[in-house]
Amino acid sequence: MAKKRKKELEIKKKNLWSNLKKDEIKKIEATGEKLLRFLEAKTEREVVAKVKEIAEKQGFVDINKVSKIEPGMKLFAVNREKSIALIVVGRKKIVEGMNLIVSHTDAPRLDLKQMPLVEDAVADLCFLDTHYYGGIKNYQWVSTPLELRGVFVLGSGEKIDVSVGEKDGIYFMIPDLPPHLDDNVQGKRKLLPGIKGEELNVLAGSIPHDSDKSPLKLNVLRILNEKYGITEEDFVSAELEFVPAWKPAYLGFDRGLIAAYGLDDRVCVFASLEALFGLKVPDRTCIAYAVDKEEIGSDTNTSVTSLFFENLVKKLIQLEKGHACSTEVLDALIRTKAISADVKPGVDPIYKGVYDSTNAVYVNRGMCFTRGPYHGGKKGANEANAEFLHEMRVILDKAGVAWQFGNSGKMDEGGGGTVARYLATRGMDVVDAGVPLIAMHAPVEIVGKVDVHATVKGFKAFFEHPF
Ligand code: MN
Ligand code: MN
Repeated sequence: MAKKRKKELEIKKKNLWSNLKKDEIKKIEATGEKLLRFLEAKTEREVVAKVKEIAEKQGFVDINKVSKIEPGMKLFAVNREKSIALIVVGRKKIVEGMNLIVSHTDAPRLDLKQMPLVEDAVADLCFLDTHYYGGIKNYQWVSTPLELRGVFVLGSGEKIDVSVGEKDGIYFMIPDLPPHLDDNVQGKRKLLPGIKGEELNVLAGSIPHDSDKSPLKLNVLRILNEKYGITEEDFVSAELEFVPAWKPAYLGFDRGLIAAYGLDDRVCVFASLEALFGLKVPDRTCIAYAVDKEEIGSDTNTSVTSLFFENLVKKLIQLEKGHACSTEVLDALIRTKAISADVKPGVDPIYKGVYDSTNAVYVNRGMCFTRGPYHGGKKGANEANAEFLHEMRVILDKAGVAWQFGNSGKMDEGGGGTVARYLATRGMDVVDAGVPLIAMHAPVEIVGKVDVHATVKGFKAFFEHPF
């Protein structure tokens, strides 16, 4: 009897792998394989290029190349190569609101400083000086093989893509102190400031050029000039990033987990695309929007707060009926239902103490959603309304999606943020949802592929909902 009541009254928490059907397992395997390939894009520009390439193969066309829209049309809009919106036009008018899923293309990394090349004359070694981007733990990036990726805009205006790394048989690295010599310099520091920002210097060359002043730096410049046609001044108009060199791979004997750089938040970019590609003609216009600069606060012209989105809504209304006025754009925004698609910290049992175990999310227990991530007294939260959370529950249950509800960790242990609040302040109903993830912001992060599959299903059900 008690067993029956338990089933009726309590939320079930279980590892999803324990009762999967054969065809479901096949789908999960296929999703895992696709995700591994998607994660080879390691910068925001590479992610946008990849999304655009996949979308074009799926029949999506540039919004600037169409003169009107009709239900079922598939469009994309790119903002400065760093954010991209994929749109499937629905049956209802744009002004009635859209179903929007927003993820982010950027990930924590080491950016090159504007004048990065320095050489040490005593040791005869050349370094590239970096400025960390986003919330990294500096010590994790030392003694880690790195690749250089990004773009130079030359004096002539020509844009040159840069990608040097594993495929060329080249690594870059920040050398760490040997344990034989770290007693005083590092031994007395705490773990988190164990490596200082200004110590994040990446070793980049050791052979001198035939010259007596700055010979090592000159040699690196000579090589870069031969390969890319750049001079030192071109670093001023460049965006160059050191990213971890490892290839995305499965983790563990059973291949149930995926370990890769940039899973925050490219796993959600991937899930929103997969969900969108599965749509027929939806009731409401559906948009998967992958934005830039979430990790540094979303205050740029390529981030979620950029007017690019309002302008896109205006364009859609214009393409639908020939003209648009600002009140229609506002109506469309305020009637939009949104998911802020981002990863959540899944419980890492090595550090159980920082999680509130009953309100936490767990790897392999499905797509997670929450009222909103926050610090301490709910600072920075979007606080999804009970009514919208109810709608989400119903949508997910109806579609048979495995879901869990939970937050980041114990309230005084720290916290994080997502783009949810920026969507909420535009008047949308918004909920935070995504994939539980272990080792967030580390050079290699971990997700469960069964959760990725559940999230694709959940996002698709959300897109399809008529509201
Ligand atoms: Mn994120
Ligand atoms: Mn993040």
